[in-house]
Amino acid sequence: MWKIRLKHQKLIEQETLLFDILKDFSNNYAVVYPNKYSIGMSNLGFNFLFKELNSRGDSSGERFFYEEDEDEILSMESNRSLSEFEVILFSLTYELDYINLLRLMIKSEIEIFGDRRTRLFPILIGGGAALTINPAPLLKILDFIFLGNADKEFSKIIEIINRKDYRDKLDLYNKLKDIPGIIPGEHIKKIKALNISYSVPEKPVHSAIITPNAELKNMFLIETARGCPYNCSFCSVKKITGKYKKFPAEAVVSVLERHKGKFEKVGLVSSAVLENNEIKKIFMYGIENNLTMNTSSLRLDLLDEVNLELLLKAGNRTLTLAIESGDENLRFESGKKVSDEKIFSILKNAVNTGFRSFKFYLIIGMPGETDEHLKNTIRFFSELRNSVEIKALRMNLSINPFIAKPGTKWEKGEFINSTEMKRKFNILNKSLKKLGYSCQIENLNEAELQYLFANSNSEIIYPVIEKLNESYSVILKEVKNYAKDHRLSIDHNISNT
Ligand code: SF4
Repeated sequence: MWKIRLKHQKLIEQETLLFDILKDFSNNYAVVYPNKYSIGMSNLGFNFLFKELNSRGDSSGERFFYEEDEDEILSMESNRSLSEFEVILFSLTYELDYINLLRLMIKSEIEIFGDRRTRLFPILIGGGAALTINPAPLLKILDFIFLGNADKEFSKIIEIINRKDYRDKLDLYNKLKDIPGIIPGEHIKKIKALNISYSVPEKPVHSAIITPNAELKNMFLIETARGCPYNCSFCSVKKITGKYKKFPAEAVVSVLERHKGKFEKVGLVSSAVLENNEIKKIFMYGIENNLTMNTSSLRLDLLDEVNLELLLKAGNRTLTLAIESGDENLRFESGKKVSDEKIFSILKNAVNTGFRSFKFYLIIGMPGETDEHLKNTIRFFSELRNSVEIKALRMNLSINPFIAKPGTKWEKGEFINSTEMKRKFNILNKSLKKLGYSCQIENLNEAELQYLFANSNSEIIYPVIEKLNESYSVILKEVKNYAKDHRLSIDHNISNT
């Protein structure tokens, strides 16, 4: 135990806190990110929960993470165990973290199934992108699930919980039920429709803590927009966040000014960074203040010479482009409506601007994809190579299996079996390697489990629990065996209401 205490102490010593603490220990919450500290601390939603609980004055929050090699689950702040907390909040961005959540509960000796936890406490609440896509896998486990954007609703939930004037969980649900986004666990009440909150914050959400031990080391994250103005056939951003809202440059810059001097790297968080028409002003602020301004993958629609120049000056060395397919028709069907010709010209401009490293995101197994599409993808990348004179470029391809998500145009698309997926990958990899591209594919077992969690009803948890401490491939096998005798698929009519 002393080892974990020491580790927590060291981690906290290296953190820079970016908000004023105002705590009340009489309402002490556990805030759990069921994955490593380094991943959780790079998550804006988790940062938001921690900051809110520790700055509002009538509550406090202690962080928990899931580290595979640690047997004891203790809070970062006071090294207390999870079972000592009356209210436990889980932040769930990725479906596979459901497995860690269950492992955490078992290690902490908390009963997994909601209907067997007959006492009022602990109250278990989960939220995040994965649950908004499909909350069903945790409906037998969690008491309440929050769907959508919690920015405005979170304080209303905490106020009601803090009052402690409810007899049982059903009584608490009756007090919470008018808050957009809240749904009860199956053991409290069965629901017929989802209730997703699409309220958006007035100001951009940003990091509450920066640390050299986060995956995004010492990086200050700030939203430049919520949601996305596009609606690609495979993408669930619209379902998760609702309408696109961009934050004015003035709002983003004023946050950066307030915390000036505490970081050198900024991560601009948005599904479509360049689509904010004030993004140039934000980049200019960064350049003038010697801040590196990082972005995630970019759409190509607005990647003109001015934006390329700004991206490079702001410290971006690799241009990450999500084109989904080298086949123009399939690319258009996926929602990325940018022609081959335009991509060639963007690459040329990018090389002329000074970029030497490129990463492309591709999806394989999209509905309707044939070997002809793969051949066209190889042809596309061959022409792309030839379209630039400089040959010493780093060209990486991240190839991801198509995973159908409820609420998207392609929600009924199937997950192609892993043998077929590997065959498709090998077709691309063999030819593209010769052209100087390096190709990586996502772990297929993890991708298929993700697909099953996103598309299954609450029964999926039974086979998962059976093999909880085994590898993903064993858990996957168990789920598929279970699915032979039980109906696991969700009703899309409910999942989309
Ligand atoms: S894939 Fe990207 S551009 Fe398309 S809808 Fe999703 S976030 Fe927007």
